[in-house]
Amino acid sequence: MDFNTLKKIINENSDFVITCHVNPDADAIGSELAFADLLLQNGKNVKVVNYSSTPYNLEFLDNSSLIEKYDAGKHDEIIKNTGVIILLDLNQLSRTVKMENAVRNSEALKVCIDHHTGPENFSEFMFVDNKYSSTGEIIFDFITQTGIAELNYNIALQLYAAIMTDTGSFRFERTTPGLHRKVALLLEKGVSPYDVYDKIYAQFYLSRNKLLGHALTTLELSESGKIAYMTITQKMLKETGALESDVDGFVNYCLEIKGVKIGMLFFELRDGVKVSFRSKLDVPVNLLAEKFNGGGHFNASGTRLYNVKMTDIKPEIIHTAEELLKKY
Ligand code: 5GP
Ligand code: MN
Repeated sequence: MDFNTLKKIINENSDFVITCHVNPDADAIGSELAFADLLLQNGKNVKVVNYSSTPYNLEFLDNSSLIEKYDAGKHDEIIKNTGVIILLDLNQLSRTVKMENAVRNSEALKVCIDHHTGPENFSEFMFVDNKYSSTGEIIFDFITQTGIAELNYNIALQLYAAIMTDTGSFRFERTTPGLHRKVALLLEKGVSPYDVYDKIYAQFYLSRNKLLGHALTTLELSESGKIAYMTITQKMLKETGALESDVDGFVNYCLEIKGVKIGMLFFELRDGVKVSFRSKLDVPVNLLAEKFNGGGHFNASGTRLYNVKMTDIKPEIIHTAEELLKKY
């Protein structure tokens, strides 16, 4: 889909629902709120509905409280009757968890804007390009290339948060001169890099850092020394009083060890196991996640497994990763 087609869809419709993936990150939330702003500037009716609550460190982005938490009784009718559903930062409908059926069965036009690999073909309007650093960067291009809305301070803030977090604070591979030029425009709108970083990464509750302490003590290396993994249990959450969303980012510590190529975090959920994968530049952990029914990016991917035991799945995944590493 090109941007003109997307602009046409916006011009020809009046009612929009925006959503993103489970456990939203700043790319998901920032992209939603930037898109909502551009639609509101065009006089559209907009609902932003998410399966998960917004993590507390990202609440400052939603300063007009636009985001509603999904409630089937309240939102299924809206999802059914809206003109367009905009799905951001995901390309598989299962990433909306319990909203999946309502979205799938809705007769609304579905527009997917995303930068992950392995898209499911669930809509005729897919803008999925994994060369982009973030979904926020795609929306930046959409706005600046079509002039559909004013790139105001709010949109600049949302897109800066999206891009900063998805590039690992401007260090991952897709951090190009071109991306920095786009970010320069966002700064010219008044965004403060210090402030955004501080709000997202430096105002956690003490309980989050206590949990990090527990998690770090579980760090182990695989036989080859090329895989480092940590484990978080529900018991640790209870003991520290930390939240599930606090775990975001912990997996990166696995990669900060000499010789390690793959980092993994095994996170015991109430009803299953979430596994996060991270890798050094040349190792495609999206292939690893895909083997276990997940997905993501070349260097950052994940999966959620239900009805499995941690003690069974952990050795199996580590073994599969060791096999993959023989090629790299
Ligand atoms: P994280 O480990 O930070 O939750 O996720 C890292 C990346 O993997 C994200 O870009 C996310 O889109 C992807 N990812 C995480 N969990 C899943 C999952 O269960 N399914 C799919 N398809 N992708 C996932
Ligand atoms: Mn993203």
